[in-house]
Amino acid sequence: MTDSKMINKQAKLPAKEDFSEWYHELLTMAEVVDNRYPVKGMCVWFPFGYAIKKNVYAIIRELLDPDHQETQFPLLIPENEFMKEAQHIKGFEEEVYWVTSGGTSPLDVKLALRPTSETAIYPMFKLWIRSHADLPLRIYQIVNTFRYETKHTRPLIRLREITSFKEAHTVHATWEEAAGQVEVAIARYSEFYRRLALPFLVSRRPSWDKFPGADYTTAIDVIMPDGKTLQVGTAHHLGSTFAKTYEITYEAENGEQKLVSQTCYGISERCIAALISVHGDANGLALPWEVAPTQVAIVPILLGDKEKVLAVSRQLQDELSSARVRVQLDTSDDRPGAKFYKWEMKGVPIRLEVGPRDIEKGVVTLVRRDKVKKTVPMEGLVQAINKEAEELQAALFAKAMNHHEAMVKKVVSIEDAKVQTQVGVALVPWCGSVECGHELEDRVEANMLGEPQYVTFPEAACAVCGKMSAGRTYMARQY
Ligand code: ZN
Repeated sequence: MTDSKMINKQAKLPAKEDFSEWYHELLTMAEVVDNRYPVKGMCVWFPFGYAIKKNVYAIIRELLDPDHQETQFPLLIPENEFMKEAQHIKGFEEEVYWVTSGGTSPLDVKLALRPTSETAIYPMFKLWIRSHADLPLRIYQIVNTFRYETKHTRPLIRLREITSFKEAHTVHATWEEAAGQVEVAIARYSEFYRRLALPFLVSRRPSWDKFPGADYTTAIDVIMPDGKTLQVGTAHHLGSTFAKTYEITYEAENGEQKLVSQTCYGISERCIAALISVHGDANGLALPWEVAPTQVAIVPILLGDKEKVLAVSRQLQDELSSARVRVQLDTSDDRPGAKFYKWEMKGVPIRLEVGPRDIEKGVVTLVRRDKVKKTVPMEGLVQAINKEAEELQAALFAKAMNHHEAMVKKVVSIEDAKVQTQVGVALVPWCGSVECGHELEDRVEANMLGEPQYVTFPEAACAVCGKMSAGRTYMARQY
């Protein structure tokens, strides 16, 4: 993995200002995903990209495991179950792949490749839930889902096979408890994105853009380098819509049979698209310490007593390795410059250069991915590296936050909203009515992300009807 022959080592990335070009090239050059698989909208994870994914999803598991149980449901959903929930079907019917035959025999019941798993999971919930003692029930699975996307597909962003859909499904006795669970989901996702050093927006999607069958949808969006937003997490309050359809009831303490209330919430590999896009630069990926497959790369500068340089490098590698740092010693035949290039492209947080003169002085040269360079003593290297890793995390977040804040602008009129959404996100006064919402989208020529959550605003005149209210909506061009 460290010495791959899969890519052209001398190629240069396009400027990040040409975001789309840069993004596509970077995914290949850094060996995240290979887009050459001969089915549209499906990509192959390179082993290096897969290693990033494993580390990222380990955080999700860590955040959910204390009170959710991981499980796995089948990929295939029988047509009769899939077609039961009318609102849900309406939202997905154009995107479903169907399996219609087994070998040469046509199937009696067509089978859908899950575009999402409500209709696979909820018939089983009906069997699993008997009484109030079975509630709340919280499960999740990380699986592939399939959607026949007709829009332009993009690696990790718009796919026909979503390879890593983390979907959680919870069941509660009351609507209020389910609403509380939506808040818990958003809090966990917020923590997740903080650990990836990514700033984000939280908003309540407008009624016409909620999940098919949901009472409401709260979403998390990351602002990409080109000012468009990427939806990277959603949490849906399903009310009792699916409970009615799939007859999911429980016996309350007083013996009464009641419908359950449900939620579901999801994150896909779009979280990795955001991670790569926001932190990456002209030299390649820039990965947060926690998710970098290689955290420290040691590059020996083989001058003078080469054996000694290698021996000291190995010693440092062992020391870091026993402190559970993911470290690689680069003993390839490349020149040091080519090695620096390679490790920067892979987003390695810290590079150590070990040369004969450093060894004489008992020091190493430490270069962080954000270009901060210093000389540090070999004595106490592990502590020094941990400290640099923390500082790098803070620096990555600060840089991302600067970009994020510069991208969001308050506006008062439709004209200003139109100008702002060409370059970023507009925060627009909106009275909350559906009519004004649709008119805003039409005239601004951008999407409404919806009402910002966890913030309040002073009264202002709705950009459409002029009515005074404290309501606001984010507007942006969306991926
Ligand atoms: Zn209005």
